[in-house]
Amino acid sequence: MPVQLGEQHYRVRVSRSAALGISTGLQEFDIALEDRMTVLDALFHIQRDHDPSFTFRCACRVGMCGTCAVSINGIPRLACKTRVRTLDPGTIRIGPLPNLPVIKDLAVSLEPFFAQWKRIKPAFRPKDPDSQQLAVIPDTSAYAKQTPEKRDCITCGICYGACGVKTTSSEYLGPAAINKAFLRLMDPRDIAVDDRIAPLNEERGGVWRCHTQFNCTAACPKGITLTDSITRLKRAMLFPKRFEKL
Ligand code: SF4
Repeated sequence: MPVQLGEQHYRVRVSRSAALGISTGLQEFDIALEDRMTVLDALFHIQRDHDPSFTFRCACRVGMCGTCAVSINGIPRLACKTRVRTLDPGTIRIGPLPNLPVIKDLAVSLEPFFAQWKRIKPAFRPKDPDSQQLAVIPDTSAYAKQTPEKRDCITCGICYGACGVKTTSSEYLGPAAINKAFLRLMDPRDIAVDDRIAPLNEERGGVWRCHTQFNCTAACPKGITLTDSITRLKRAMLFPKRFEKL
């Protein structure tokens, strides 16, 4: 059952803030329902019909860029991939992605997310950077067989916003950065093992902080099994030589 005012309207409650993210409270708008309307469409209606200063981010509109991530009824999601009709009855509540500083209204800064991302040295580091040969992934490797569905991250920050540990820890790497490190450590062509294991093994920021709540896995719009990556890393890090490349 959809949320409806009469037959053709929805009520949307959005978080508002002034510049520098200083909250100015919540504001409600009645939005005329359109067939196949997404939450992103509703945000454009607010901006176009009610308040041109209303601020949010978007780019591709087809779930590829991750730019329109917001909190919808308390759950981090992509606004462009969320149809209004699929939401629970009641007023639709839309706020900025949690665990990140608000710039204005629904726009957050992803700087803390990428600061953690950089700590695991995400760039591919081959044994011979000057080689002219293509760095082919061996078909028989565990990386080829076990990780393809974990390589689709669009750096939307949704897992970071959904993570209960991130709520209380600025030091924690967060699920996406840990998954990226897991992929590099699994990759038989990559040699930067020690650089990546160091932040993963930190007491306050590393994998040991994860409480296996599965919030990240449940929220990821690309279906990446983040909790599985973190758990497998924890197990493997008890035997660090496991990651040494031949
Ligand atoms: Fe977004 Fe999933 Fe990547 Fe996290 S792992 S940043 S939720 S795509």
